[in-house]
Amino acid sequence: MDFNLTKEQLMLIDSLRDMGKRENFAELAAKVDATGEFPHHLMPKYAEMGLLGMTLSPENGGVGESSLTAIIAIEELAKFSPMIAAPVFESNVGPVRVIDMFGTDAQKKSILPKVCKGEASVSVCMTEPEAGSDLTSLSTVAQEKDDFFLLNGKKCFITGGGAASHYLVYTRFGDIKGYKGIGALILEKGMKGFTFGKQEEFMGLRGMPSCDLYFDNVEVPRENLVIKAGDFGNLMLTFDIERCGNAAMCLGTAGGALDAAKAYAAKRMAFGRPICEFQDVQFAIADMAMKLDAARLLVYRAACGAGQGLPSIYEASMGKCYANEMVREVTDKAMQIFGGYGYSKEYPIERMLRDARAWGVAGGTLQMLRITMASMIFGRRFDQRK
Ligand SMILES: Cc1cc2nc3c(=O)[nH]c(=O)nc-3n(C[C@H](O)[C@H](O)[C@H](O)COP(=O)(O)OP(=O)(O)OC[C@H]3O[C@@H](n4cnc5c(N)ncnc54)[C@H](O)[C@@H]3O)c2cc1C
Repeated sequence: MDFNLTKEQLMLIDSLRDMGKRENFAELAAKVDATGEFPHHLMPKYAEMGLLGMTLSPENGGVGESSLTAIIAIEELAKFSPMIAAPVFESNVGPVRVIDMFGTDAQKKSILPKVCKGEASVSVCMTEPEAGSDLTSLSTVAQEKDDFFLLNGKKCFITGGGAASHYLVYTRFGDIKGYKGIGALILEKGMKGFTFGKQEEFMGLRGMPSCDLYFDNVEVPRENLVIKAGDFGNLMLTFDIERCGNAAMCLGTAGGALDAAKAYAAKRMAFGRPICEFQDVQFAIADMAMKLDAARLLVYRAACGAGQGLPSIYEASMGKCYANEMVREVTDKAMQIFGGYGYSKEYPIERMLRDARAWGVAGGTLQMLRITMASMIFGRRFDQRK
């Protein structure tokens, strides 16, 4: 078992650290949080550095990099803020991978090169007001017509909603019940009958576009079909890559909080000594580092296993669940080390703690991940309806 990163991966980390200093990402992260404005200006810079779509197939503009390399890049940038890492996340581990793996040649040629240039992005549209964890109850429906699908329904909490150019919409086809009726269509922003609700106001992840989507008799051309009814399993398998990306955001935020807490503890004085000389503070820092390393090993294991393909469901669920809980604990401990200043907006810790809370809901809740893991451990499916 080789736990070492390659020379290229280490160089990538160095170049992202340099970029973070050069572009003053620490300040940008605070600005994005304060204004709620996504840092779109990063897109051309990331494209130039080859960070966008690096995992996508070379014949469509990518470089066929491993998922692990993308995970490492996401983690490094998320140390500043998940918003700064978001374009790398979306273009490498997001729903664009479904198109790369299962899309038609025409879909790949029209979307993937633009994603790599930062000119297009794809949102994943699963959740509905009455179907979140219970995804297979979704009621958005596509009726097959002559040369198009007539789409009707509503989605909520869609990251990138309103800002993304393309939307991978999970839908039921006709009246086929349960998961067997679910597949996916690609919608483009601007299609007639496809509209957006008002932007969400979240506790954290400020600057991340998110809103409801409405489909009112949208005529979706037949060639926009990516996953047909009956192939729902392919959608969920591909979603496990996104789950590794979600976990990488947690590694980054926790890493940022640990670095900040360590630096603060080394210089903050109490009782005539830096607080890092108190054993309780040392133990807190050691626990933070231990949990972060454990999460990193689980997430990297899932990403390594995926190679250029798909991770194991078990490993991706375990990595995400552990990292989602770890980041809450680490940012909370960091806040305690900062004392009153941790609670102040003067320092980044309160933002990191707010951001940390989202990941154990987005991309599947902690409970649903445990249900998945338990079913793999017992080797049987636990039907939640019975
Ligand atoms: C920041 C953020 C970004 C998001 N981005 C997207 C996106 O881009 N695209 C998208 O489609 N969705 C997105 N979502 C939605 C997210 O996927 C859902 O919120 C999530 O799947 C949970 O669904 P729900 O909110 O309907 O909660 P519910 O499903 O109503 O669950 C409520 C609670 O009940 C628990 N629960 C439900 N069933 C069970 C069970 N059988 N056993 C034990 N506990 C159970 C859940 O774990 C949860 O704690 C995002 C959400 C957030 C917060």
